[in-house]
Amino acid sequence: MKNLAPIPLHIVDLIRKKRDGGALDAREIGFIVAGAASGSIPLEQLSAWLMATWLRGLSVEETRALTLAMRDSGERYSPHRLGKVAVDKHSTGGVGDKTTFLVTPLAAACGLAVPMISGRALGHTGGTLDKLESIPDFRTALSLDEFETVLERCGAAIVAQTQSLVPADRVLYALRDRTATVESPELICASILSKKLAEGIDALVLDVKTGSGAFLRKREDAEYLAALMVATAEAAGTRTVALMTDMGQPLGRMAGNWIELVEAVELLRGQRPAGSGHLRELSLLLAGWMIHLGGKAATPDAGRRLAETALVDGSALRAFLAMVAAQGGDVSVFDDMTAFHMPGATEVVEARQSGFVAEMDTTALGWAVQRLGAGREKTGEPVDPHAGIEFHAHIGARVEKGQPLATLYATKAEMLEEPEELIEKAIVIADTPPEEVPLVSRIFTRATAETYLKNAVR
Ligand code: URA
Repeated sequence: MKNLAPIPLHIVDLIRKKRDGGALDAREIGFIVAGAASGSIPLEQLSAWLMATWLRGLSVEETRALTLAMRDSGERYSPHRLGKVAVDKHSTGGVGDKTTFLVTPLAAACGLAVPMISGRALGHTGGTLDKLESIPDFRTALSLDEFETVLERCGAAIVAQTQSLVPADRVLYALRDRTATVESPELICASILSKKLAEGIDALVLDVKTGSGAFLRKREDAEYLAALMVATAEAAGTRTVALMTDMGQPLGRMAGNWIELVEAVELLRGQRPAGSGHLRELSLLLAGWMIHLGGKAATPDAGRRLAETALVDGSALRAFLAMVAAQGGDVSVFDDMTAFHMPGATEVVEARQSGFVAEMDTTALGWAVQRLGAGREKTGEPVDPHAGIEFHAHIGARVEKGQPLATLYATKAEMLEEPEELIEKAIVIADTPPEEVPLVSRIFTRATAETYLKNAVR
């Protein structure tokens, strides 16, 4: 019997199908993704499909098909030529989250390759690339050849998404931003994973944030996203785990650009400054899982121990500095990190009453960091490498009236007032200490993610 030609697809039919609650198959999803990448489907029709998807959701199978079609919409890396297991970490973002600067060299120092494609600050969350670009001459836009050379030499490279990598996500993510369709677990899953899977990694550790500074504020949405990402990446052949971690307060002392690197390098130098404990602990836990999933340790705990050794013996610091230098960065700025920090204006916010730090509205604190000049409200805006906030107290700390809560670093003095007000409202001081929140509240492995998804009601 002669093979019949496939029935041609029409975008308007696919929008209608999703609008009415139907499920699209892999061919239909592939058609939409290819149309987004090539520009053959007009933006108004992509927008309508995005909104229908946001409202109706996608099944686990549809999410998988979308992720794979997006991954395959452009060039893909293949780090295996380097003869190492490739692993990566992704965080759903937060305030003061600089674990990348620790886990990347920790995993590299333990013999793994970390080919990381990273993003920029947007809204209340910071961006790894902006932080790295506060190092003079550091280059995040590397060609594929340069990327592989750095990876081969240093075991790690952190670069920006190129034009040719996951082009469908460039179009769809920008459109989601303009059509109020960003906050969909399925679309977030496909967007994040398509980029991570295009890196050609063998294993992935996801850090899904919960609490007042998290991207998805509802706990059940964050859990669903974590489980969905683990199941989707595993189905694509990448060993994956998700740790749900607390973003109910900034992670560590510093939030900004250069000052976040300062805190990370202090830890890489083996220092243990007050206020950086959670950052150190979370970095070791994440790196432990990377090392375990990358096959260098039998358990995550054994991986954590290897990571701690690499932190203490200086090998992770050496890996970090080698990567910075290989990407063109001037490592001499780490010789005197305080001298290099040159904010335009500084102000100290003091506690207005004595008591315990009971709550920190971390999204508001993230906006304060942005308003000081360290972040951006819209894509493409410049950021100030030296702006940011140094927090002197975290949740549970006892503070006395007049004690410094935070030091603000702004581009110029006029930019201090609004962040100061935001901080005063965001940090709540009470008479009694708050209940302790665990740093890691849940871990999804392949098995637990699949069980969760089977029982999830969406
Ligand atoms: N980060 C991404 O890359 N994509 C999303 O959809 C959300 C966060």
